[in-house]
Parts: sequence; structure tokens; C-alpha cells
Amino acid sequence: MGFVFACFAAFFGACVGSFLNVCIWRIPRDESVIAPRSHCPKCERLIPWYLNIPVLSWVALGGKCRWCRTPISIRYLGVELLTALLFVMVYLQYTQQPSLLEMVPLSHEALIPIYWVFLAGLVCGTFVDFDHMIIPDSVTIGGMVVGPIFSVLVPAMHGADVWYLGLKGSLIGGGVGFGLLYLVAVVGEKIFKKEAMGFGDVKLMGAVGAFLGWKAVLFTIVTASAAGSVAGLTLIALKKNELQGRIPFGPYLSLGAAVWLFWGERILGAYLKILSL
Ligand SMILES: [Zn+2]
Repeated sequence: MGFVFACFAAFFGACVGSFLNVCIWRIPRDESVIAPRSHCPKCERLIPWYLNIPVLSWVALGGKCRWCRTPISIRYLGVELLTALLFVMVYLQYTQQPSLLEMVPLSHEALIPIYWVFLAGLVCGTFVDFDHMIIPDSVTIGGMVVGPIFSVLVPAMHGADVWYLGLKGSLIGGGVGFGLLYLVAVVGEKIFKKEAMGFGDVKLMGAVGAFLGWKAVLFTIVTASAAGSVAGLTLIALKKNELQGRIPFGPYLSLGAAVWLFWGERILGAYLKILSL
């Protein structure tokens, strides 16, 4: 039975990923994500449903438009596969099978759809940030609004069993996330005399805190800074000139938050153990 559910999670994740591709393209262009139906950006032909099946269609068409043969970026396939992988991982986190992944156990089955929503938002925000250096408000402010609502419905999101403690955990998390990065943004701007931290990152951390709590905020900031430094130094070593411009920080924050979601308490526990030796 577990295998059937895992397959469903993968298929559903790929479909959501397919929709995220639409969101990533259209939201920053202020286009509706519902209408019009998907079409080739080059020849404008509508993509019929049987050519709009996640993963399979891209592979079957060899990554090209059916009619005009314009290449379709492999990123579309990547976003679908990534989302499918994340959805399966959340399900495996719930079943704790296979145990070798060492993920933090989910305390409530309702966390599965909630984490799916959260991770879908991170995927969307990450790729929009790569393309446009912004994170859409529908992801960040949306997360800050939906996080507390989910926390009332499922207090287990914050290790609580009554609604007001779930809400408390969400509001504290959101406040710490938003407040800390707001401080970094304001102080950074004073010191460097230019924008040090985008306001989209501030709002994103508000959403991360509202979903995952204040400990996740601290972990995410540390992890994202470390990952960002490694990536930055790698770019310098490779003599890439992209460092001249701004590097989007949202993808690193998203990575940090996702690592916390799957392994955070385990990593924190191991770290505290080392400290107490
Ligand atoms: Zn075409």
C-alpha cells in the first residue's frame, strides 16, 4: 500500500510541478495562471492535454515544440521532477521508510499536504528569484497569511495540540523571521549604502517562520549564509563575473528551510550533542 501512495505522491508532485512552471513564467509577468491555456511561446499554438502530461510529454517530444520544434528548456522537466521528488520525500518522512534517510518523523498525517503546499511555494519563489531577482508576494505574503491559518487547524505544525498554541508558534516564528531579516536589511543598507537584502527575502522568512517556527528561522539563515558563501566563493574561483550584480538569496533561504523541514531537529540534536561533549 505504501508503494501505491508513494507513486501517487510522485505523480501528484509532477502535476503540481507542471503548474508551478506556469506560475514561474506568468506571475512575474502579471498574467493569469489559469487562463489562457498553455501554449508554445514561439508559435503560440495551444498545447493539447495529451501533450501536457508532466515529465512524459517533455521526454516524448525530445524537449521540442510539437509543431515549430522550438526547444523547450530542460528546466521545465527539472521543476516537475524536483517537485515530484519533494512530494515523495514528505510522504517517506511520514512513513519513516526507508529509515536510512534519517528524516525527522511527521507527528500528524495532515502535515503531508501542508508541507506539500509549503515546498511548492519555495520551488516557485526560487525559480522566479533566479529569473527576475524578485520573490512574488503571492508566495511570501501568501505564506505569511496561510501559515498561521494552517497552524490553527493543525497545531502539530509547531509541536502543539491546541489551536492557540499552534497559532502562537506560528506568529512567533513569523515575527522572528520577518523581524530578523528586516533588521539585516535596514542595518545592511545603512552600512553598505545600498540594498543589502531584498525585501522579498524579508517576507519569505516571515512565511518560513509562520510555517516552521522560530528555530527553523535561525537554522535557515545560518544554512543559507553558509551555502551562499560556498556558492559565491566558487563563482569567484571560476572567475564568473555574475558577482558584479546581485545574487538572489531566496534560493539559498529556500534550500535552508527545506533542509530544516526534512532533517532540522536531527541536525540540531547532533550539533548540541557535539557541544556538550
Ligand atoms: Zn511552437
